Amino acid sequence: MSSFSFSIEAECPGSWARAGTIHTPHGTIQTPIFMPVGTQATVKSVSPEELREAGAMIILANTYHLMLRPGPQLIQDFGGLHSFMHWDGPILTDSGGFQVFSLGHLRKLSEEGAAFKSHLDGSPHMLTPERVMQIEAQLGADIILPLDICAAFPCTPAVAKEAMERTHRWAERALVAKERYRPEQTLFGIVQGAFEAELRQESAHFTGNLPFPGLSIGGLSVGEPKAIMWEMLRAVTPELPRDKPRHLLGVGSPEDLVISVGLGMDMFDCVLPTRVARHGGLFTHAGRVNIKSARFRTQHGPIEEGCDCYTCRNYSAGYVHHLARTEEQLYYRLGSIHNIRFMLRLAGELRAAIVEGTYCAFRDDFLARYIPTSEKVREDQREKWRAARLHS
Ligand SMILES: [Zn+2]
Repeated sequence: MSSFSFSIEAECPGSWARAGTIHTPHGTIQTPIFMPVGTQATVKSVSPEELREAGAMIILANTYHLMLRPGPQLIQDFGGLHSFMHWDGPILTDSGGFQVFSLGHLRKLSEEGAAFKSHLDGSPHMLTPERVMQIEAQLGADIILPLDICAAFPCTPAVAKEAMERTHRWAERALVAKERYRPEQTLFGIVQGAFEAELRQESAHFTGNLPFPGLSIGGLSVGEPKAIMWEMLRAVTPELPRDKPRHLLGVGSPEDLVISVGLGMDMFDCVLPTRVARHGGLFTHAGRVNIKSARFRTQHGPIEEGCDCYTCRNYSAGYVHHLARTEEQLYYRLGSIHNIRFMLRLAGELRAAIVEGTYCAFRDDFLARYIPTSEKVREDQREKWRAARLHS
């Protein structure tokens, strides 16, 4: 039987924030939590020991990438993802649905599933709700997700409804299929509904009433303005069961984490912290800075005073600046460690504030100091990364 459980230790009286604990076969997760993304069964340039030291409690790996290379059978032969990648903590695998959706003309959806051509060699593949359960059983993560359909932004209400209804039918098929595999794995349901508040609520009811021990909110942070994402969360959270952990898929940045916690979300995953780090973007409490900028060249102190990460404890900002400017391998590691630690420390601070009953003050103070990256910069980055999305 699954040893999965979720309990809530504290709830914020002035918002929907809560502090909880998730038990999995590979360890305990205290929420709110940020999950670093290890697309190819590795969080790029960071070792499992370094992840642990940075406070990581759970990581995410991508089913789409791993099914194509090295293949689920090979990972199973190595004893599953935990043993293959030498990470003995909890792992969550996504369903591959989002990546297949991102393939555009390379994929074709039907009631049966999603047919697509590999971005690596053009070979044909078919993902169905049943096949995804089989692959994720071979990968062996603690928490797994069912195949879903993520509608694009913008989309018509009719397209949003069709995608949501098919996601619901696929959720039921996934639950049946999972029975054939590993009982120690926990299958979360995925709430869809695109950018229609009523559909989001309908999906929350439908999915929340199925026997999923946890729920992921999918289809957000796909290019819509932030205001729309917050509006969707405000609509969906009151309709979710209180006693199941809530995972906001693909979010986010430091400010997104702080705000989403107040809107009732418990778990977050995003490539953003590690991806922006590789491009020179490092988090501080005043906002994201570019370590390559000239002002760091002569800075003897750390990237951010008071940061307890490995990088800031041992290296000057001037040295990290030099490594980034010369594109040295060590930069990718040091930059990634700083941002991962920033996100995990922030998650810990949010948890402490919820327990102490001071979340709202913490949120307001954080947002008053943190200058978010503008929509314009975000859009430019999205354009730049769009082409490379499937390769990173
Ligand atoms: Zn640091």
